[in-house]
Amino acid sequence: MTLRLFLLIAVLAVTTPAIAETYDIVLSGGRVMDPESGMDAIRNVGITNGKIARISDQALDGRQQLDARGLVVAPGFIDLHQHAQDAASGRLKVFDGVTTALEMEIGVPDVTEFLRRKQGNSLIHYGTTASHPAARALAFSTPLKDPFLVPPSGPSTNDAASDEQLRLIESRLRTELDAGALGIGMGIQYTPGASHLEVIRMFRLAAERRVPVFTHVRSFGRLEPGSSIEAVSEVIGAAAIAGASLHIAHLNSSCLADGPECLSLIAGARARGLDVTTEAYPYEAGMTTINSALFNPGWREKLGVGYDALQLPDTGERLSKERFEQLHAAPEAIPVILFANTQPMVDTMIEAPLVMIASDGEDGHPRNAGTFTRILKRYVRERRSLTLMDAIRKMSLMPAQRLERSTPAARAKGRLQEGADADVIAFDPQSVGDRATYRAPREPSAGMKFVIVDGVLLIDRGALLPGRFPGRAITARPAPAS
Ligand SMILES: [Zn+2]
Repeated sequence: MTLRLFLLIAVLAVTTPAIAETYDIVLSGGRVMDPESGMDAIRNVGITNGKIARISDQALDGRQQLDARGLVVAPGFIDLHQHAQDAASGRLKVFDGVTTALEMEIGVPDVTEFLRRKQGNSLIHYGTTASHPAARALAFSTPLKDPFLVPPSGPSTNDAASDEQLRLIESRLRTELDAGALGIGMGIQYTPGASHLEVIRMFRLAAERRVPVFTHVRSFGRLEPGSSIEAVSEVIGAAAIAGASLHIAHLNSSCLADGPECLSLIAGARARGLDVTTEAYPYEAGMTTINSALFNPGWREKLGVGYDALQLPDTGERLSKERFEQLHAAPEAIPVILFANTQPMVDTMIEAPLVMIASDGEDGHPRNAGTFTRILKRYVRERRSLTLMDAIRKMSLMPAQRLERSTPAARAKGRLQEGADADVIAFDPQSVGDRATYRAPREPSAGMKFVIVDGVLLIDRGALLPGRFPGRAITARPAPAS
């Protein structure tokens, strides 16, 4: 081939598709923001076959044209910490701009069953870690049953595991990782019987399988032994010993008033070359089940709070000692909201550059519905303490980068770039915001005008389109050959 002919073909190859191509969807005239490249410009976005095919300042032809003028067009948000995986919660996540919501902190009790249940049935992408608490419950012959995510306080949470039980836990976690789990989830505060060595062995298993450990750390508060500082040090130590990656869940509620110190521990570990990341959610109160080991004796002393720090969702009932003891002894998984943090400390965590956003979403807490748009409303628009680009980075690129340790598929997520997955949102920066409250926790967020998941339009001009379930499983890469 002559050089001239080659150049002619090359020029045609580059220019022809832009003229001739008709995209499935074109979002036109929006302010396109990509936290990886730094792009922040008015562009048209062409989407075809679930991928972002073209980003251009030229007009694009689409079978469906969406007018994004005045809107911010961003990568869909990725929530690494979403417990509630039911249909109603999925709907709330879409209105909050979330296109991927993963159960990473603890992990579901049965990965295969979870993936089967969600397949073809989910608005947004889903995935899970392998659950250490569930594997432990199984090894203690008290398997976890729906809707329990962590076992009620008892032998499987409070007793030390025997050598044989430890082997059973590891074996179960291997099976769950083979089934597609994205890491190992450890709620150490919910299994206080787990020894330091048991924790280290789980980190060794994660390192062997080259997946991260996601964890709710062992304790909170300032009382020693058992402070937040000790709890964070334990998992950083285990990560260093084993050579595993580590993600610490909700630094806000695990570290409370020692949040800045916990951040400095993580920054120190990272400066020494360890792969340690963390997240926070923008609410003062936490939420958990009242019969869990988190409420083993001593919890009030650790937190420095009274029984009235506990509130039942929806009714707003504040608990007394008698009411607490009655509910703590109940066999059901009763959710309770726990007020133990201050707004200034939450703000410090959210605004710290190291911290990504994750909701810890559970039904009955406003964080399930409002976490992501609350960041845009409170921190970008009202406090002006985060730039819009930094907020988008904390909610899309940073969690995608964390996920890349589990699966290379995450490299196509959290970015608004040609070739990336078409998980795209477009919102009105002036009106976007959360509406859920403690008393009305299921109010969908406002301001999402378009939400596209895997190239499928889910929210069109603010309305959810029925009968579309484009969510796909995100699972780990196949185990490396040994
Ligand atoms: Zn937690």
